[in-house]
Amino acid sequence: MTVPVPPPDTAGTVRESLARARALGLDRLDAQLLLAHHLGRPRSWLLAHDDALLTAAQREAFDADAARRVDGMPISYLLGQREFHGLTLQVTPDVLDPRPDTETLVDWALELLSGALAALPAPQALDLGTGSGAIALAVKHGAPRVRMRALDASAAALAVAQGNAQRLGLEVEFSQSDWWQALTPPRLHLALSNPPYIDGDDPHLAALRHEPLQALTPGADGLQAIRRIVEGAPAHLEPGAWLLLEHGFEQGEAVRKVLRRHGFADVATRCDLAGLERCSGGRWPG
Ligand code: GLN
Repeated sequence: MTVPVPPPDTAGTVRESLARARALGLDRLDAQLLLAHHLGRPRSWLLAHDDALLTAAQREAFDADAARRVDGMPISYLLGQREFHGLTLQVTPDVLDPRPDTETLVDWALELLSGALAALPAPQALDLGTGSGAIALAVKHGAPRVRMRALDASAAALAVAQGNAQRLGLEVEFSQSDWWQALTPPRLHLALSNPPYIDGDDPHLAALRHEPLQALTPGADGLQAIRRIVEGAPAHLEPGAWLLLEHGFEQGEAVRKVLRRHGFADVATRCDLAGLERCSGGRWPG
């Protein structure tokens, strides 16, 4: 008769860990990305090693992050990074999780830089409320000749953005500023912003509770920050400059009105990948 061998003192296999996370409610991809992150392996490794054993510490850390993910924490905060417009950005809960929608704004900016603004050898560009630096860095990467500056009211966000600029080797000048307040000359040829635009009483904010509230909502009225940016813009724009703003999918008409009322010309709107009105902008005639 064989004596049963006691199971080794381990914390379970890759397969069991993924199954546990799925049972908690994680989708398959998130479970794989998180486990790969905790094991320091590529996701492809997991698939070929589903019998590999975790240490107790790995299991504990993975299970804790799986629970955070189920609670709505963006996967990017748990992985510490997010792909945006071809760049890998480090992100923390101090900054908005960059969204694919915002790539619409970057694409529009790059089109202007190779179109209406193509004749300028060193266009002055600005990203207001830069957060992780996503917009400023993607535009600088796509159009290296721009002189890119970026502002944010949050010192913690600026530290994240600065770290991203350093890692990516992209030259952007960062300053702490409440919208235009600390901006110094020269005047701009291109001003960009993904400001907070969700109404303060919008029930969707609850689902976004892990992200910085001041990056999501300007307060009761979702258009407050957009109005401040448009009102303040003329003092900082060169004739022929463009101002592009991201906004909520139901705010296109209102943002176009604000732009026209403040004297912008050629006011237009672009849709995101879902076909929803997502960015509006106009040309400052000077
Ligand atoms: N696009 C984000 C969302 O609706 C909001 C980002 C923002 O307010 N700038 O979840």
